[in-house]
Formats: sequence, C-alpha cells, structure tokens
Amino acid sequence: MSKIVLGDYYPVYYGKPKDECGIFGIYGHSDAAALTALGLHALQHRGQESAGIVTFDDGLFHAERRMGLVSDNFTDNKILACLPGNTAIGHVRYSTTGSSALKNVQPLFADLSIGGLALAHNGNLTNGLTLRENLVNEGSIFQTTSDTETVLQLIAKSKEKSIVKRFIDSLYQIDGAYAFVTLTTKNMIGVRDPSGIRPLILGILDGSYILTSETCALDIIGAEFVREVENGEMIVITRSGLESIKPFPVRPKRPCIFEYIYFARPDSILGGHSVYECRRKFGQELAKESPIKADLVIPIPDSGVPAAIGYADTSDIPFELGIIRNHYVGRTFIEPQQSIRAFSVKLKHNANRILVDGKKVILVDDSLVRGTTSTKIVRMMREAGAQQVHMRITAPPIKFPDYYGIDTPVKDELLASNKSIDEIRSYIGADSLKFLSVDGLYRAMGFPCGRNAKHPAFTDHCFTGDYPTGLIDQSSKEKFHQLSLLS
Ligand code: 5GP
Ligand code: MG
Repeated sequence: MSKIVLGDYYPVYYGKPKDECGIFGIYGHSDAAALTALGLHALQHRGQESAGIVTFDDGLFHAERRMGLVSDNFTDNKILACLPGNTAIGHVRYSTTGSSALKNVQPLFADLSIGGLALAHNGNLTNGLTLRENLVNEGSIFQTTSDTETVLQLIAKSKEKSIVKRFIDSLYQIDGAYAFVTLTTKNMIGVRDPSGIRPLILGILDGSYILTSETCALDIIGAEFVREVENGEMIVITRSGLESIKPFPVRPKRPCIFEYIYFARPDSILGGHSVYECRRKFGQELAKESPIKADLVIPIPDSGVPAAIGYADTSDIPFELGIIRNHYVGRTFIEPQQSIRAFSVKLKHNANRILVDGKKVILVDDSLVRGTTSTKIVRMMREAGAQQVHMRITAPPIKFPDYYGIDTPVKDELLASNKSIDEIRSYIGADSLKFLSVDGLYRAMGFPCGRNAKHPAFTDHCFTGDYPTGLIDQSSKEKFHQLSLLS
C-alpha cells in the first residue's frame, strides 16, 4: 500500500464527518426532478453543504450536483430542465471536506457492465476504509473520498447477474449505518441497514412511490406516508409495483436515538413517534429529574425549543424567548474549524436583554457536544444581566463518538468524555448544569422502566458506548494512523 493513498485515507477517517445526509427518490412521476428538489429542500436540515439529483429518462441518466443549498441551486428552471425523466433520486449532504467536496457530492453514479447506477447514501460504514484498502489493492480506482463509493465498487465487481443480487452481494460485505436509495435503468431500490440505524420511509403521491429520510419531505409535496422501511429490508420499485426483500439475517431493530434528540425535524414522525412530542417529553422528564427554582425557562433556539416548552410545562416556570436567533446563518457545525465555529455562535444568537436582565434563568438545549454553544450563551446571558444561569441539557452526556453518520467529534473533543459534570459546569460558566439520564430518555420515549440493557430499543452509543455493529475501521485505527504518519 502506497503512502500517498493512505495519506488520502487519513483525512477521510479523522477529518470526519462523513455524511450527515438526507435522501429522496420518486419513481414514475412526470414532475420527478421538481418533486425531488422540494423533498430535498424539506430535508435541508440534514445537510447543507451540497445537493444533487439524478434522473433517468429514455435510456439516459442526467445528473446535477452542486455545492450549497437546494434553494440556491434547484429552483432554477434551467437546472430542472436538465433533469428530464419520470424517476429521480436526490441527496443533501453535510461534510467538511472543503474545496474538494464537489467530487463527493451525491448521488454517485457509475456505468456498470449491466447498466448505469446512481446511489444516494445516508449513514456511514464502519468497515468502509478496510474494504476500500482491499479494493485499491486489487486495482479499483476510486474517484471520491466518500465511503459510499466503496458500495458502488463492490456492486461493479459482483459476479451476480441482476442488479438487485449484485446490490445484495455488496451489502453483505459492508457494515455500519445506511439508508440507500438507488436508481437503475429498471428500478428504484431502497434499503435500510439490519439495525435500522438511519431512517428510511415509504410514501406515495399520485400512485408514484417515494423513498425518503423523513415524513417532512412527504408533507411538502402533499404525499401520503405509507410505512417505514424496516431494518434490514430492501424495497424494489418497478413499473409493476413494489417488492419487499429481507436479504439479511435478523438483527434487533435499533434506530438512532439522536434522530429524536437533535437530528430529525420536529414536525417529522419517526418510528411512530412525533419528534416534537419526544423532545417535549425529554424536557418534561428532565424537569422531574432536575428541578430548580428560577424566573424563566429559555430555549437555545431552534433545537432546544420543544424541550424547553416541556421543561417549562412541568416546572411551572414561564417560558420566554430570552435568546433570539438569526435565521440567515446555517447550523453551527457547518464550519469545520473550531475557531470559526466559535465565532459563528455569536452570529447566530443574541440575548433578549429586556427579558433576561436581573433574572434567574434556566437555559435548555437538546445536547452538549464540544460545549461551544453553551459557553457562549451562558456568557451572553450574564452580559445581558442575568443573575443566575442554570443549564439543562435534554440528553445524557455524549461520551462516545458516533460512527454512523452524525457529526459528533473524536473522543478528545467530546467534553463529557474528558470532564466530570462539575468540570463541564465550570467550563461553560453556569451556576448549575444537569443532563437527562439515559433511563429518563427511555422513559420519555415510552419505556416506563427505562433502558433495557439486554435489548435496548434504540442505539444510544453516544451515551453508553454500546455500538450495535462491528467497528472494523475503528480497530484498524492504529494501523491507519501509523501508516499515514509515515507519509
Ligand atoms: P456544542 O456547541 O456543545 O459543541 O454542540 C451543541 C449544540 O450543537 C446544540 O445546540 C445542538 O443543538 C447542536 N448539535 C448537536 N449535535 C449536532 C450535530 O450533529 N450537528 C450539528 N450541526 N449540530 C449539532
Ligand atoms: Mg442547537
């Protein structure tokens, strides 16, 4: 293995976040590309760096991939006119790969011996680098640094005859989190990993099937929700209808709890739960676990709002918008460097001084990762005259990294993996700091006895370190690390 190739691997591995994404596909509708653009727009919270759509028309595939927001790129009729056909798949992506990112914009496309194939992926493979290393050793030439390309390469190499069998063949080799939507000359295929870590749902509009990440993408186009794609289920949509295949040995279903805490849009219904209601219950549960006397409950907008409503309800303390958010900046994590990320918190939030001055306030946020947001906002509250600032986080402390497509940083940068709660309290400058317990989280999700340690209903690895899949690349970390240091 050459050093140069590993030099390329290294930033992918540690430079991290891979894909925090949203996917959408529609089969057999005359407005396929426009509907996909609208669906992606509704999923924009899942990724703001780039967007892409691939359509299939009269034997040809058409692709448009752009950096930036869906609304900046795909509202232009000229672009939509370049995407003819009645079948389309699309993708919004969050990554931090900077200038070279265009090559990674999905859907990825390859011309295989059995026809063209476009692939959109939400999630992250946990053995992608190891597979990639093997493929490169065998002569595969990679065009991107995305783990999704590994799947394309595996499909390309499979000896199976049909595209569905080739896809299944490649899925057998990968591990980790994935929701895929694939477009081929004959069909649209959706598949969710055996644990169902990332979401994927089935909808319908005017008789045309839709596969997408969240129900909010159905709402925007007036489509109907049909059902969730099950963990380990593959759905093949052709002109003659829909076929469900269960290619994998059964694994327990463990959707990611972080979708409910932060990632999904609050108006989405996930796994039969309203995301908004879940967040409100997280707040209610935390108010029961960790009450405190104060004058106001203030959400850190926008993500902390439903939880703060719940906290205020249960504690019977007035809910007020003590922080105003500027909506013309994206999510805080978009900027890859710590220095800029810290700066952007100031761009995004401002204290509503008139409310806060002289008050004892309870700040509510959905999660604490590096502590950047909390530190800035606590300071902002004090500068606005707050007498006491109590921080309440409606998730447990994030102690373990995520390897499944959510941008939690490496362990060293996770505040809660290195500091005690009191050290974090002191770091962010709050008078008190409380997190929701893991059992409280489960109680709020409808499990009165809390987390069942043998059969947890969700994957909650960020809080517990209990990962539902193998972590092959992670155990090769030393190897990748050492080799890249040599280069
Ligand atoms: P911190 O500022 O502590 O590093 O991160 C916590 C804040 O970032 C919270 O306000 C939370 O809503 C948000 N957050 C948590 N997880 C993620 C994530 O995976 N991506 C992005 N963009 N924001 C996150
Ligand atoms: Mg937030």
